[in-house]
Amino acid sequence: MSSDYITFTIGKKKNIALIAHDNEKPKLISWCQENKEILSRHNLCGTGTTARMIADQAGLRVKAYNSGPLGGDQQIGAKIVEGQIDFVVFFSDPLTAQPHDPDVKALMRIAQVYDIPMAINKATADFMLNSRLMSDTYDHEVINFQKNVQERAKSL
Ligand code: PGA
Repeated sequence: MSSDYITFTIGKKKNIALIAHDNEKPKLISWCQENKEILSRHNLCGTGTTARMIADQAGLRVKAYNSGPLGGDQQIGAKIVEGQIDFVVFFSDPLTAQPHDPDVKALMRIAQVYDIPMAINKATADFMLNSRLMSDTYDHEVINFQKNVQERAKSL
């Protein structure tokens, strides 16, 4: 009998997604500048505008997906599902309504489902980046989706 959970490993080199809502972009860019040395050891990606601004202003290589309101958050969520993103820093704006709020919620939810470390503010990002696990591998348990699908297909 296969188990309900399977072990995934986040490698030493993390695949980090960087996202900031417009009012939070200056804060994320300064955070990237301050932490450039650590961040440059990992693979970076982000939503379109955020990725471009970090590349231009912090001098880091950042793979750009679409802009958030045009589907970028969903692309990042899909990469989490595919196991290609395993760490998220998302400075979301708690004071401004976003047109793509459902996409933001979907990304946060999928990060929970896949047990992905996700910082939604600077303090959490600081704690995460300074964790000893940043330079180590990390095993975590994720729902065994194959088994889940088999069982659902049989029982529904
Ligand atoms: P942006 O998207 O980086 O393209 O501005 C971020 C967002 O609002 O989700």
